[in-house]
Amino acid sequence: MSEPLFVRFWGTRGSIPTPGHKTRRFGGNTSCVEIRVGDIELICDGGTGLRELGLDLLARGRPKLEAHFFFSHMHWDHFQGFPFFVPAYGPESELFVYETQAGDERVQKLLHGQMSSEYFPVEFGDLGARITARHFEQSTLELGSIRVRCLEQRHPGRSFAYSFELGGKKIVYATDSELDLLLENREESLANLDAVRRLPRELLAFVDGADLLIADGQYTDAEYPKKLGWGHARANTVADLAQQAGVKQCAVFHHDPMHSDELVDQKIQSACERLDRQGGKLLLFGAREGLELKF
Ligand SMILES: [Zn+2]
Ligand SMILES: [Zn+2]
Repeated sequence: MSEPLFVRFWGTRGSIPTPGHKTRRFGGNTSCVEIRVGDIELICDGGTGLRELGLDLLARGRPKLEAHFFFSHMHWDHFQGFPFFVPAYGPESELFVYETQAGDERVQKLLHGQMSSEYFPVEFGDLGARITARHFEQSTLELGSIRVRCLEQRHPGRSFAYSFELGGKKIVYATDSELDLLLENREESLANLDAVRRLPRELLAFVDGADLLIADGQYTDAEYPKKLGWGHARANTVADLAQQAGVKQCAVFHHDPMHSDELVDQKIQSACERLDRQGGKLLLFGAREGLELKF
């Protein structure tokens, strides 16, 4: 049997942090998901949830931290937590930051940029950790026995999904993607909300059979027509993607900052009812800060 793999949600909110009593259950921190296998620490996005993850990593008391960062893209809500990631200040930490294409330096440049003195008191170059850039080769890389792949998504300024495979287990992190722009029956899907939304084959192959799909499902069907082109998907479209790709569990992620816990509940309930009507067997739920899953 292979080593257990843990997934923990440190930030599930989209766009901007939303602290307060209305978002207590699903959480107000922006995107950050930890994937852990033995001593290997993979971090998907560094939104404000990254701050708490950093503190928790220190509390675990490992003498040396090695962490691998996979940023979906560099909108504020996905890397704003990085300057508050305390392990980045310690010389005993070794951090790897991945760029999706050879020769690309976008992630590095923006991590530097947000710590320039106009925005932040400490410069990136003053961080104590060893921080190294690494690149995907033809959208794939091997990290020990973990195979990581990336896929470009539809989002303003573009974004990337990542799939992590190890010992027959597969986790897909796919946030900030306007799935509804990719639909093969897009017009029909807007006119008839009950019509099954057909996702493109390349995306279905990427997500195929995932034990867990974490996907941007920011909007309800009613909200989406007012947000066309903003780069986010309807939660019901995520349900159709999960169903068509044979996913086992699906965490709807990147909750809208305008959504209270009750509204997120309603959005998830609608997606679950849709799956029931389609005869779906998968488990779909709202990603919630603090939730840890074991695979
Ligand atoms: Zn976002
Ligand atoms: Zn974005």
